[in-house]
Amino acid sequence: MAVITQTIHAGLPGKYGEVALVGAGPGAADLLTLRALTFIQQADAVVYDRLVSEEVLALIPADCQRFDVGKSRGHHSVSQAEIGALLVRLALQGLKVVRLKGGDPAIFGRLAEELDALDAAAISWQIVPGISAASACAAATGIPLTERGIAQQLRFISAVDKSCSTAQDWASLAKPGQTLVFYMGLSALGEICTQLMAHGLAADWPILLVENGSRPEQRCLLSKLSEALADSQKMVLKSPCLIMVGEVVRRRQHAIVLAEIIGPQINKILAA
Ligand code: SAH
Repeated sequence: MAVITQTIHAGLPGKYGEVALVGAGPGAADLLTLRALTFIQQADAVVYDRLVSEEVLALIPADCQRFDVGKSRGHHSVSQAEIGALLVRLALQGLKVVRLKGGDPAIFGRLAEELDALDAAAISWQIVPGISAASACAAATGIPLTERGIAQQLRFISAVDKSCSTAQDWASLAKPGQTLVFYMGLSALGEICTQLMAHGLAADWPILLVENGSRPEQRCLLSKLSEALADSQKMVLKSPCLIMVGEVVRRRQHAIVLAEIIGPQINKILAA
């Protein structure tokens, strides 16, 4: 048995620097945690990803060293090994290093590789959680990710591999009673919908796509499995985009229908 009490994983003494792996949230700067903000403001060096928004980057102090290790899909501009080595090098210079990652660093954030690199060099580190895209997109679109009697399970799925048909357990995903949240799923959208229908979900099963959730340029698409791909192509949806599938999404449909019915009535009352 091991009893874990500390949140800071101590390595070499403080003069060798330390690394905070900080969640930058979905984009809106006011969705950062206070702790994340404090770390950013006190950093000597910040190493950040492509998903970290300009709004958040603007909070980095002017005299802080910045390292953009952003990767676009398929173009690994800086390899994971190089990022690990960079973090170690900066920490060994005695710097306070912030590794800033979109959303929550522990969700599809390649966190494990970076922790391994730090541990191998005995660098102290700690993790600062962030608001993940799932929470941010659900909040921004007004849906509960779980709901009593409707969705007792919530599943976060990485769809990064285009040929994910072999990797996913479609039979277990294509079930009612749960909400599916696909990260990195836009290029696999056709496959996701086809497989979910092939494994038993109805063609009109609700699906919601959120592009740039929480950012000023946010766009949403509410659709059904059989039409989502065509609809998304019409809208020319781009990354970052989150895909949510499940009955909780119907709330959004209800809200839209209600707004269509109630909106004109309110206007009538206001005009009277
Ligand atoms: N650690 C991140 C996820 C990194 S994987 C987190 O916790 O949110 C990258 C994927 O996250 C993107 O392909 C997209 O599916 C999703 N994502 C991240 N930010 C997003 C945003 N603002 N709006 C919609 N999807 C987002």
